[in-house]
Amino acid sequence: MSTSIDPTTAPILATYARFPLTIVKGEGSRVWDDQGTRYLDFCSGIAVCSLGHCHPVVVEAIEKQARELIHISNLYYTLPAAELAQELTAAVELPGKTFFANSGAEANDGLIKLARRFGRECPDPESGQARHEIITFNKSFHGRTLGGIAATGQQKIKEGFAPLLPGFTHVPFNQIGALREAISAETCAILLEPLQGEGGVNPATPEFLRAVAKLCREHNLLLMFDEVQCGFGRLGEMMGWRALGVPELEPDAISWAKGMGGGVPIGAFWVHDRKIDDEGTPLSSLLGYGSHGSTYGGNPLVTATSLAVVREIKKANLPANATARESQIRDTIASWNHPALCGVRGKGLMLGIGLNAELLPVPEGKTAAAYLCGELLKNKLLVPPAGAETIRFLPPLNVSAEEVEEALEILKATLIELVAQ
Ligand code: PLP
Repeated sequence: MSTSIDPTTAPILATYARFPLTIVKGEGSRVWDDQGTRYLDFCSGIAVCSLGHCHPVVVEAIEKQARELIHISNLYYTLPAAELAQELTAAVELPGKTFFANSGAEANDGLIKLARRFGRECPDPESGQARHEIITFNKSFHGRTLGGIAATGQQKIKEGFAPLLPGFTHVPFNQIGALREAISAETCAILLEPLQGEGGVNPATPEFLRAVAKLCREHNLLLMFDEVQCGFGRLGEMMGWRALGVPELEPDAISWAKGMGGGVPIGAFWVHDRKIDDEGTPLSSLLGYGSHGSTYGGNPLVTATSLAVVREIKKANLPANATARESQIRDTIASWNHPALCGVRGKGLMLGIGLNAELLPVPEGKTAAAYLCGELLKNKLLVPPAGAETIRFLPPLNVSAEEVEEALEILKATLIELVAQ
């Protein structure tokens, strides 16, 4: 394990606690560092490289599009963006329209703007006042823009950035009573990750999701899903919430990024066409001309690539592989009965493995999760932490049973090494 880059002199802002590793090459579920050492990559660029590294479908889509047209701006139509929008609507299986952004945080900013427009179009019926408040949840993560950090339910993400964008209320996740109490005459929307990722891999229960949808109907609130991390096959269905026991739910809006692009920087949000008033105004019409935009958003290079990625996820039935590999991981870890582990949370290939921190020799100043990720890296397995006491398995959706077995062997051997110390 090494890096040729000296973090003390490299002119890169030190916003990340990077592992001491410089990656120079990737293929499938493997990456190589600048010393030629090979690693098994169960991080996938934090749930981004859904087809693995440099999949031929991705490489060919980039090469082909780069020869034809890379960028043209949103002053004109392009075929890849139009085709991808069709593909996304087909994946949602509901009538609606998509806006293309460049990241998950940007996609969520779009949802926040949509909610505010909705609160103005559909004011509080008693006072006639516009509604602007969005309820989100403790431990949520919605990105690093000013909108994203205001929406996020984790104090550490907001530290030092006051005054924050107003209009957000955070309530405990999976607690319907607390949510019901938080709804006021100013509330216009509820935004949630069906499966919280960065906050520790916490799935919403089906009962909670159903109750949230019911409250949204009762109070005329938008139901908005942040599927930036959990969308596009990762949970075992194209749409994340459909893997969580509530396939019948109809969100009003969804944000995506990460896995939909397989590595190219793309984000998007989708808005339902449902009517919001007696005149038949579609929800998707609230963001009309001049209301939102992005110079790069949906450019031909990224949309052609994302189109290839989404089609390959469907063609190769990768959601089914995510489900099969989940069973393999759960069964194997359960069979060890290792005292340093306290259960597997999550769904498909977005899994969090809980740690009993007191059983690991964690050095002062480190979290158990960051420490174990560092030790796994020494044993040639890359995984990211999720919170202080959870490590995540986020391999490519086409990871093989053999690769999963290999990763589990490394985890087991590392735990034996550490706990025997
Ligand atoms: N929303 C969720 C659920 C995420 O997991 C993330 C990133 O981890 C984001 C939003 C922000 O996405 P990005 O880093 O692409 O801005």
